[in-house]
This record gives sequence, C-alpha cells and structure tokens, in this order.
Amino acid sequence: MSKREPCQVTVKSAERLTTNMQRLVLSGESLSRFPVNCDSGYIKLLFMPDGAPVTDTACLESLNGKPVMRTYTIRQFNAETLEMTVDFVLHGHDGHTGPAANWAEHCKAGDTICIAGPGDIKLINQDAQWLLFAGDMTALPAISCNLEQLPANARGVAIIDILNDSDQQPLIAPEGIEVIWVKGRDEFLSAIHNQSWSYTNVSVWCACEFSVMREARQFFKMEKCISKEKLYISSYWKQGISEEEHKVLKQKDAVHTAD
Ligand SMILES: Cc1cc2nc3c(=O)[nH]c(=O)nc-3n(C[C@H](O)[C@H](O)[C@H](O)COP(=O)(O)OP(=O)(O)OC[C@H]3O[C@@H](n4cnc5c(N)ncnc54)[C@H](O)[C@@H]3O)c2cc1C
Repeated sequence: MSKREPCQVTVKSAERLTTNMQRLVLSGESLSRFPVNCDSGYIKLLFMPDGAPVTDTACLESLNGKPVMRTYTIRQFNAETLEMTVDFVLHGHDGHTGPAANWAEHCKAGDTICIAGPGDIKLINQDAQWLLFAGDMTALPAISCNLEQLPANARGVAIIDILNDSDQQPLIAPEGIEVIWVKGRDEFLSAIHNQSWSYTNVSVWCACEFSVMREARQFFKMEKCISKEKLYISSYWKQGISEEEHKVLKQKDAVHTAD
C-alpha cells in the first residue's frame, strides 16, 4: 500500500477530553505502514458527499476516488499497538457542524472510517533563544506535540485560544515555556502583541482561523520581522465556510503573499 493510499481504521475508544474536545483512538493493522515518529503529522478523514463516513475502501470506488476530506493532526501514534490518537474540536453548537466534528461526536467503539496520510510534520524551528506558539483549539494537538519534543532548556510561551475555561488541558512542556490560556480573537491577538519580544532570535509557530491568522501574520512579518525560516503560520479553518472552500482561499492567499 502506498504512503497516502486510503486505509480503513476502527474506532477503539471515544471520550470527551474537555468540554469542546473529543478524543478518538483509532486502530487497525493498516496503520503498520505509518512511520514510528509521525506525531503532529496530519491525516485526512474521508466522508461521503452526504457527510457519512467512508467506512471501507470499497465505498471509495463509488466516489470515483473523490471523497470529502477533512484534515486532522496525529496527536499520538503508537507503532507497537497500532493506535492513533486524534483530538477533534466539537464546533457545532450553533447548529452548523461539519461532517468531521459531527462524526467525532457521535461515533462509537467498533465504527470504521477510511483515512489517508500521513502528511508532513511541521515543527517549530528550535534554533532560537525564544519560542512562541500560538493557536486555537484546532492547533492544540499540534502545539502539544511540539511542546513534548522541545529540549529541557527551551524558553518561550504557548498562547492557546480555548472556547471555554473547561477546555484547558494539562500540557507537557519544559519549565521555561509559559502556557497562557485565552478566550477569543481579541485576547489571543493581544496576548501575542503583549509579549516582551526582547529576544532577537525568535521562532514562531502559529495556526488558527483564517482571518485571525492574517492579522497575526501581519504582526509577525511586518512588526516583528520574523524571517521565513523562523515562522510557521497556517490557517486551519475559516469561519462560515467548509474545508473545501477554505482550501481554495488558502491557495489564493498563498499566491498573494508569496515573497
Ligand atoms: C494541518 C491541519 C491540521 C488540523 N488539525 C486539527 C485537529 O487536530 N483537530 C481539529 O479539531 N481540527 C483540526 N484542523 C481543523 C479542521 O480540519 C477544520 O476545523 C475542519 O474544517 C473541520 O471539518 P468539519 O467537517 O467539522 O467542518 P466543515 O465542513 O469544514 O465546516 C462546516 C462549518 O463549520 C465551521 N468550522 C469548521 N471548523 C471549525 C472550528 N474549529 N470552529 C468553529 N467553526 C468551525 C466552518 O466555518 C463551516 O461553517 C486541522 C486543519 C489543518 C489544515
């Protein structure tokens, strides 16, 4: 089986990690093709046009290889037990949920779904005196993986925008990393601006909603002059539109902002 060819996995467990975060453990023999160290890489979960999961690879044939795809971070992969942990933000409280959040909320142990991947791992550039992580709950799995892989002497801050105070979760990070929990776009952007920014050699890792990302990117690039090599910035979703439409917007944005 090739690296990105879809494969079937089974839900081993589903638990509400925090108020708005659902943790699924997916398992299956097919995961034996995933590399040992793929934490924080991404997978695509595959859905039918009506939002139902693609439960086996035979279903894909009826879609001419064009399923609806949703992108999620591998929070943790255990190559020995062939288990993959994925954390899903449950964003459907205003009635406008999407196939992925809806499936994650309602699936149960024994259900199956097809996934593809893994995609690239995007870790922070650790070659800096001070590190800044910033993200909303969709980026929390990737930030958690990043923090766990830092050297013990790393210094910096992780600013995380959560939906509710009860969405805080314990993070494993070096002592020199301050974790700041905020709520909402304004608090998030203020927390980024209000850092002392006293170091000259800084690395930034930031992922969040599209329009918030654009404001943050403007600040990092224009005001703080963070170089390309020291800046990972990405929008993970956009308010009001699905992942397909967001992908198109992201491509246009990338063309306009290419250096
Ligand atoms: C590299 C990468 C890694 C990602 N990792 C994760 C991850 O580990 N966990 C995770 O939860 N998300 C992650 N995301 C974000 C996730 O892919 C999107 O939130 C996706 O749109 C969810 O799909 P859906 O089917 O639930 O909703 P869609 O069908 O895409 O959208 C339906 C509606 O829901 C809205 N919506 C989508 N996401 C959110 C949200 N988070 N909050 C509020 N409204 C929303 C949309 O604006 C739209 O109006 C990642 C994205 C990328 C690019």
